[in-house]
Amino acid sequence: MNLIAVGTVAFDSIETPFAKQDRVIGGAATYITLAASHFIEQCGLISVVGDDFPQDMLNTMSARGIDQQGLQIKQGEKSFFWAGKYHYDLNSRDTLITDLNVLATFDPVVPSDYQAPDFLMLGNLAPGVQMRVLNQLAQRPKLVVMDTMNFWMDSAMDDLKAVIAKIDVLTINDEEARQLANEYSLVKAARKILEMGPKYLIIKKGEHGALLFDAHNIFFAPALPLEEVVDPTGAGDTFAGGFIGYLAQTHNISFENMKRAVIVGSAMASFTCEKFGPERLLNLTKEEINSRIEQFVALTDFEILVEE
Ligand code: AMP
Repeated sequence: MNLIAVGTVAFDSIETPFAKQDRVIGGAATYITLAASHFIEQCGLISVVGDDFPQDMLNTMSARGIDQQGLQIKQGEKSFFWAGKYHYDLNSRDTLITDLNVLATFDPVVPSDYQAPDFLMLGNLAPGVQMRVLNQLAQRPKLVVMDTMNFWMDSAMDDLKAVIAKIDVLTINDEEARQLANEYSLVKAARKILEMGPKYLIIKKGEHGALLFDAHNIFFAPALPLEEVVDPTGAGDTFAGGFIGYLAQTHNISFENMKRAVIVGSAMASFTCEKFGPERLLNLTKEEINSRIEQFVALTDFEILVEE
């Protein structure tokens, strides 16, 4: 298995200023693996659910090449549950409920088929679990990408920093970058975060796009101005899945290729925003994905003559 992803597989209740939906399928690893499945044949999933999680959805994921040897199903227990409410601009939200349920006692076991992936996605969940996955691998992957969120900064900052020290690419949003670095300026925050260990940092800014940093370069990708955003939940995870899925497909982890991967991730995330839950990722065609990537290219394409 060339790509392995760990993260939550969950139920979400979501409220936007315009609509509300209870107990939709969600979870970081759900969005990551579904997004990545558009770029690679097979992806290993490490996660945990209760016996309340629909088998139909697991079958659908399996049909998309998402291998579930690393997914634990706990009889008589409940899946992770998250509820959130978006503000009017849909760029910021409040977490209303985080019920860890099965996640509280989750002890990940990396199956023998997953021991030597080139690409590892440490999706959002307890940093202690992310570390245990990393430590179980027989050899270090070529690229380790990690996502996290303010919940873990508030509750497990030391564990989180220990994982951040061991990875290659960190993806977080602007608010989380400021919290992690204790710095308002995103450029200064990025510098501080890169000193914590990762070689690359991606700061996601929702409808304002994403920034990719390494020690010497900054690249900016816009977000597609969508006519209607139904639900941005999972956009960050979808971004991460598209990003790492594209890198795994192209086998190239240069900064230049990461710029392309950021555009691919942004294009995939734009689809997720069009419907509640991961529905839009289930039946996307290659043509739809390619045409959206072309829209991104057109969005920032311009020529200018600079007078000497
Ligand atoms: P995003 O909108 O990309 O930040 O991700 C939203 C997804 O993350 C939802 O589907 C939730 O189930 C999941 N989620 C929310 N809070 C957490 C958490 N503390 N740890 C792991 N996953 C979470």
